[in-house]
Amino acid sequence: MKALLYSLLAVLALAGAAAANPTVTVTPPSGARFFPGQRFDIRVEAKGTPPFSATLNIDGETQDFTSPLSAGTPTAATDGITKPGFGGFNLRGFSSGRPGRHTVSATVTDATGSAAASATFAVQSAGPKEDGEGRTRNVIIMLGDGMGIAHRTAARLVRYGVTAGDPNDYLNMDKFPGTGLVSTHSLNSIVTDSAPGMACYTTGNHSQNGQEGVYPANVINPFYQPRIEYMAEYLHRVKGTTTGIITTADIEDATPAANAVHTGDRNLGQGIVDQYLDESENTGLRVLMGGGRRWFLPSTEVGSSRGSKNDYDGLPADLRAAWNIPGAGAIDPNRDLIADFQKAGFDYADTASNLSNAAGRSPSRLLGLFGYGNMNVALDKIAKRRNPGQSGIVDDYHAPDQPMLDEMADAALQVLSKNKKGFFLMVEGAHIDKQSHLMDAERAVGEVIEFDRAVGVAKNWADKLGNTVVIVVADHECSGFSIIGALHGGVAALQALPSDAANNDPTATPERQKVVGTYDAAGFPHYDIQPDGFPASQDIDGKLLFGYGASADRYETWLTRPQPVIDSLLPASFKTELTGKAYVKEPAERGTKGNREDANGFFIRGQAGGVTNAVHTASDIPISAYSSGSQAWRKFVGVQRNTDVFFKLMESVVPGDEE
Ligand SMILES: [Zn+2]
Repeated sequence: MKALLYSLLAVLALAGAAAANPTVTVTPPSGARFFPGQRFDIRVEAKGTPPFSATLNIDGETQDFTSPLSAGTPTAATDGITKPGFGGFNLRGFSSGRPGRHTVSATVTDATGSAAASATFAVQSAGPKEDGEGRTRNVIIMLGDGMGIAHRTAARLVRYGVTAGDPNDYLNMDKFPGTGLVSTHSLNSIVTDSAPGMACYTTGNHSQNGQEGVYPANVINPFYQPRIEYMAEYLHRVKGTTTGIITTADIEDATPAANAVHTGDRNLGQGIVDQYLDESENTGLRVLMGGGRRWFLPSTEVGSSRGSKNDYDGLPADLRAAWNIPGAGAIDPNRDLIADFQKAGFDYADTASNLSNAAGRSPSRLLGLFGYGNMNVALDKIAKRRNPGQSGIVDDYHAPDQPMLDEMADAALQVLSKNKKGFFLMVEGAHIDKQSHLMDAERAVGEVIEFDRAVGVAKNWADKLGNTVVIVVADHECSGFSIIGALHGGVAALQALPSDAANNDPTATPERQKVVGTYDAAGFPHYDIQPDGFPASQDIDGKLLFGYGASADRYETWLTRPQPVIDSLLPASFKTELTGKAYVKEPAERGTKGNREDANGFFIRGQAGGVTNAVHTASDIPISAYSSGSQAWRKFVGVQRNTDVFFKLMESVVPGDEE
């Protein structure tokens, strides 16, 4: 009886401890998928009270952590990189070549007791040895950022027009044989941003919004988060391919970075551009082109954004060992990164003229930085090319001579095609998204036309080289007529809100609402296309008019805006200059500040409160595929998850018997 009482007390004591036990999470999150041999970090993390200790096993087999090395021994420090209030344990650089489902199980003990967690991941099979006639050697991802179906339709209508409603011609991407749909979401939302939106194609895994090439973790520096191997890293390691990344954005931006940079914060520009070079022997990086010169200049130079923030140092030893990283990083505001790229063998071009000169030198590595922040949009670059003697927008941006994306793609492919082992190239049309955010329709449409010309270049190279797969895809839709979010705060709170009736007067019709032709009044627009491939003007009689279902507040004139909204990624001093020249900071300012032509627009209230730009939507986006020397394009037909695209590309490149 007494013994029973004691054991009952013991059970009660255990139950009491259980209430305070640590909360344990394991990454990769359940459902993660990997290509055979693809590397990733496993992390066990617990919220609790130190000291912490942990155990890990995979498919029932005990595994040692790489940090802390003394796994199983209680230690208040855990891995030394974890935020206070958490215990962290890592196994860096794990991989499995065994297809099928695997289970990761962990226990963590803290001062209050023990708790367990587990997650499952799958290793995909490597795929068939042949795709139709052959095997893919080169991969080209054409990433139209924010490009939904309506963006493509608009560009086709403007570029080619219609006869009796039938398209006079199709875009290069429309002519690709395999078109399908891709669902877009991230690890933590139905609406993704560009970081996980790109990384799902290049890792096969979902990251949280704002994060690329990593899993979430409560660590003191976002560059220390658990990594997932990129396609570029894998193919370089296994097959000796080389890598090119080109964009019209600042090269630090989420989409380009999500091909070669591992960080839990997409906004840490300085560390991001440093990592491009410092880990270029792991990614095989040979071509890097876009804007973002501000990150490459020492902090003392005009136009530099380098400083003591946005960088990393002290990369953990086990992270460096597992991922073959040569240095620990440094907070180095005065680094001359252009000079460092040159020392590593990169030819450097800072203008369109320099780019064509560089191509003549036939370099084996090429760095191109054509603007200080994002490059200018096609509409403004073309305006300067048509009127070279006149000062234009690009002069105001201190970048008068910028290449078009098709010229950049051609230069990149000249360099990359030298590697007979193959290459990975990502080409981003960045402003399709950025100008859609700003609800600047004419600039957005011009971007799709510019992007499609680059698609044409990629397709021609694919034909010339053979064994090349080209996909045209977006990371998400931006600004469109679609699902724009989810109710915040619950239905009861919604029903209790005060009336908004006083905020709108539906009896007053703005003049610019009356000019919107709908149904048969829309007719068949016809734009005059110049030899440069772009319309002479988008302000024609019967021009297309655009709306934004995921809009923010704006003033709408329906006319081409004389000036773009100030690029948010410019050096601060340049932004001040532009403000002085009557450029506005956000769309809603067009009616009150800035250029007088903008002030004639009527005010349109956006749906999403607290945001100044239109937002991304949860819509599926189109994917179009082409392949030379194989039938790999067939894989991309149908409706697919965004992470599927990674595995389909990898299956095309890596034969089943190589792993
Ligand atoms: Zn965006």
